[in-house]
Parts: sequence; C-alpha cells; structure tokens
Amino acid sequence: MDDRLFRDTMGKFATGVTVITTKHEEQVHGMTANAFMSVSLSPKLVVISIGEKARCLHKIRESGQFAVNILAEDQQEYSMIFAGQKKDEIDIPFDTLAGVPVLPGALAQISCEVVSTHVEGDHTLFIGKVQDIKLEDKEPLLFYSGKYRSLQRVPV
Ligand code: FAD
Repeated sequence: MDDRLFRDTMGKFATGVTVITTKHEEQVHGMTANAFMSVSLSPKLVVISIGEKARCLHKIRESGQFAVNILAEDQQEYSMIFAGQKKDEIDIPFDTLAGVPVLPGALAQISCEVVSTHVEGDHTLFIGKVQDIKLEDKEPLLFYSGKYRSLQRVPV
C-alpha cells in the first residue's frame, strides 16, 4: 500500500482543527494538529500525536505541559500559520491557562500536564491530564480531505 492511499483515506475522517501550544525556555511554540482525541473521563485524559520531525516534539517532552486550542471557524489563518503554510510574522497575544500558553479566540482551550508518552512508528503520543478548560460558544473550523470547511446542519 502506498503512502498516498493511506493519507487520502485518513483524510476522509472529518475533524476539527487544533493548535497545540507549549512554553519552552520562555518561548511560546504552537503547532497545528488534528490528531487529538478524548481518552478518559475519570481521570480526565486526552491524547495528541506529534510527528518525529516536528520541532514541537522535544519542547512538549521537556516542558511536560501543553494546551489544545480548538479553533473557531474564523481562525483558519492561525491554522495555516502554525502549520508553516503561511509565513506572516505576526505577534500573537497568547493568554495563559493553568500556567500554559493558550491561543486567544479559540473555541476551547484545554491545559494539560503530560502523564505518559508513547513512541509509535514515526509519531509520539502524549497523554495529557486536563488541568483546566475554557470554553466559548462558537462554531468550529473543520478539516476534511485536505481542505478547510465549516459546519452545516444536515436538513431533517
Ligand atoms: P514549526 O515549523 O517550528 O512551526 C510551525 C509554524 O508556527 C512556523 O511557521 C512558526 O513560525 C509558527 N509559530 C510557532 N510558534 C509561534 C509563535 N509563538 N508565534 C508565531 N508563530 C509561531 N502534525 C502532527 O505532527 N500531528 C498532527 O496531528 C498534525 N495535524 C495537522 C492538521 C492540519 C489541518 C495541518 C494543516 C497540519 C497538521 N500537522 C500535524 C502538520 C504540522 O502542523 C506541521 O508539520 C508543523 O509545521 C510542524 O510543526 P513544528 O513544531 O515543526 O513547527
């Protein structure tokens, strides 16, 4: 099976879009990610999956903390900036939640402490214990088949 078939097929699973943020040596770093999932309710755990080439990887390992910022539908530009698809130099006014930098205007901000790490193939799974959450009433940015989308209700 070739890589293209695998990627195209995985892209058929529609997701939201997040920016993972962390702080390392007093610098805030962000990375766009859609490999995010809720794992457990008690205790409250989530998982993110970070590729071995991402600079974010060792920063999360060393800081032991990350935040998942679920992007709102008007935040596609942030997704592109933190995926390295848009090279604009912009000064982002990060907020802080439970000591972790978070992205302003996100639909949800979820601050986590890393409780375990699993290297699987060319990605690392970080299990995060949720420390705090800030939720806003907004619509999500979606990603499907390599393109950004917005949510539409299915007519009943
Ligand atoms: P860098 O290349 O170091 O940074 C990414 C960009 O963010 C750079 O342009 C940088 O300038 C900017 N940036 C970082 N911090 C700041 C800051 N403080 N202020 C302003 N700009 C800043 N990869 C995965 O491993 N897992 C996933 O689940 C995943 N999901 C993705 C989902 C989508 C929809 C997309 C588009 C990409 C996804 N990627 C994922 C790919 C990943 O986002 C890119 O490969 C990313 O560039 C790698 O991050 P990095 O840590 O090497 O970041």
